[in-house]
Amino acid sequence: MAYLGTPSATAEIIKQYQFVFQKKYGQNFLVDANILEKIIRLSEITKDDCVIEIGPGIGTMTQYLAESAGKVIAIEIDRHLIPILEETLKEYKNVTIMNEDVLKVDIKKIVEEKNNGNPIKVVANLPYYITTPIVMGLFESGVPLQDITIMVQKEVAERMQVGPGSKDYGALSLAVQYYARPEVLLQVPGTCFMPRPAVGSAVIRLKRYEKPPVTAQDEKKMFAVIRAAFGQRRKTLSNALAGGLTYADSKGNPVQVNRQQVCAVLEKMGIKPDIRGETLTLAQFAELSNLL
Ligand code: SAM
Repeated sequence: MAYLGTPSATAEIIKQYQFVFQKKYGQNFLVDANILEKIIRLSEITKDDCVIEIGPGIGTMTQYLAESAGKVIAIEIDRHLIPILEETLKEYKNVTIMNEDVLKVDIKKIVEEKNNGNPIKVVANLPYYITTPIVMGLFESGVPLQDITIMVQKEVAERMQVGPGSKDYGALSLAVQYYARPEVLLQVPGTCFMPRPAVGSAVIRLKRYEKPPVTAQDEKKMFAVIRAAFGQRRKTLSNALAGGLTYADSKGNPVQVNRQQVCAVLEKMGIKPDIRGETLTLAQFAELSNLL
């Protein structure tokens, strides 16, 4: 099977199988061999690696992954793509194709079965409409993970990477940076896809920390604080938290904080109560939630 990463090879497969692109699945296939080679090189995969690819499409990147990695597990939701993948990947004995919704399937169990529970890598040109649930799901479900190299919408890559002071800084930046070190590797123009996406794209690597860079005594509470702080962006931090923060205590009972408690903690931290949440670092959010 020839490589699929060109407009003509992709168009031929589409025609041969009378495949109809599903917008609802975020189907924009890569048709640029140069970009594909770069992604594979930047993902630093070796024959020792087991790679999960989310959304293989017609198998374009899967071919490259199969040649570089030890094992590839390709999870695709669209059942119309399965016979195509079976054909385009038939020469690669190290690829497992799964017709599943990545948001519903138990990836931890797959890693247990296919890689004896050893850490895997994720490499994918993601369906953009579910970028955040996919990434957060991978981190929060405790899947043994080395790193994630993914194509995402350009602005989302930016949001994952920035720190306080940027207009793009928000709950996603903090959540990603709690689990991993982000690094934008590559900008990818729309001409590299079929059909062209309406938005810009970028490849970002999220290298998972062995231990989070800050200590949150209660992770769930810290994320509740972060969500409340960014939930009402125009409010000051003390107003946002006094009005919007609810979290579960150790017995699972909902707890609300009042303005007095918030102001007392902020004072202890040397933070003025009238600043906005977007000026706080991850370390400050961890400290704030530990003290509340
Ligand atoms: N990897 C291919 C490529 O680069 O040419 C296709 C990438 S395309 C941007 C995203 C792929 O994810 C599509 O094949 C789409 O059908 C698939 N997809 C969308 N939602 C999914 C889900 N919930 N679970 C698994 N795959 C999904």
